[in-house]
Amino acid sequence: MTRQDLFTIVLLSWIGLAPAIALILLKIAAPYGRHGKGSVGPRVPARLGWFLMELPALLVFPVLAVASGGLDSPVLLLLLGLWVLHYGNRAVVYPLRLTAGSPMPVVIVASGVAFNVINGTLLGLGLSVFDAPRGIEWLADPRAWVGTLMFLGGFALNLHSDQVLRGLRRDGKGGYRVPQGGLYRLVSCPNYLGEILEWTGWAIASWSLPGLAFAVWTAANLLPRALTHHQWYRRTFPDYPKCRKALLPFLL
Ligand code: NDP
Repeated sequence: MTRQDLFTIVLLSWIGLAPAIALILLKIAAPYGRHGKGSVGPRVPARLGWFLMELPALLVFPVLAVASGGLDSPVLLLLLGLWVLHYGNRAVVYPLRLTAGSPMPVVIVASGVAFNVINGTLLGLGLSVFDAPRGIEWLADPRAWVGTLMFLGGFALNLHSDQVLRGLRRDGKGGYRVPQGGLYRLVSCPNYLGEILEWTGWAIASWSLPGLAFAVWTAANLLPRALTHHQWYRRTFPDYPKCRKALLPFLL
């Protein structure tokens, strides 16, 4: 068995684990934010938690890709650019702009760090070490530009939806309100939908097994959380809009 075969087996096993995690998250919501009120050990301020959790994502994949000569490949440069756009926001801008997020349990920060290190390593190895980056002709392939457009659309939706949530606490009173406007007219968690679209688009643009693995893991994390948020909204606000779905307009 070659090292490439072994890497493929690791990736397939990693993908196979995601649905099991999704099933667990349907039963037990990840204990942060509105679902983290119980006793889950020590906590850190939300801003610090997000920064520590997402910093490895901002670093690991780019460092591995650059160290293996990724800057010479226009395709890898495109994927890296999209990556840094997202994680520059998530690790630095998002925490700085957070108004009053609930303190983050250390156990969530630690599991986020572990996930981001594993994911970044798999992407770095898969896209720039085990497989040579695709040639420049890939940029003319519809998968490259459809995936890129999907990523950018998802990014815009994620940014806007996170901004709507921040606006709900602008008066400094804390607590939860019913979000309005944008895609909140149709779903409870357009920020999660945007994030899923981003990484599905990125997976299509990379047309790679590690890219697929990350998209599957993102959906496995965020689909259960969207369903749990949606049920929570319905329980908490008796006048919650009936036509609003959890994640997918008109469907789910
Ligand atoms: P949430 O929507 O649960 O919360 C985002 C922020 O808005 C929190 O500060 C929260 O406060 C606040 N908030 C949420 N709903 C309301 C409301 N109705 N009224 C007032 N304030 C509200 O998102 P997450 O914290 O789970 O995720 C944040 C971002 O990170 C999202 O963009 C998401 O896509 C991304 N993410 C990505 C993951 C991935 O696997 N790629 C995994 C998890 C998140 P509080 O903290 O007090 O609840």
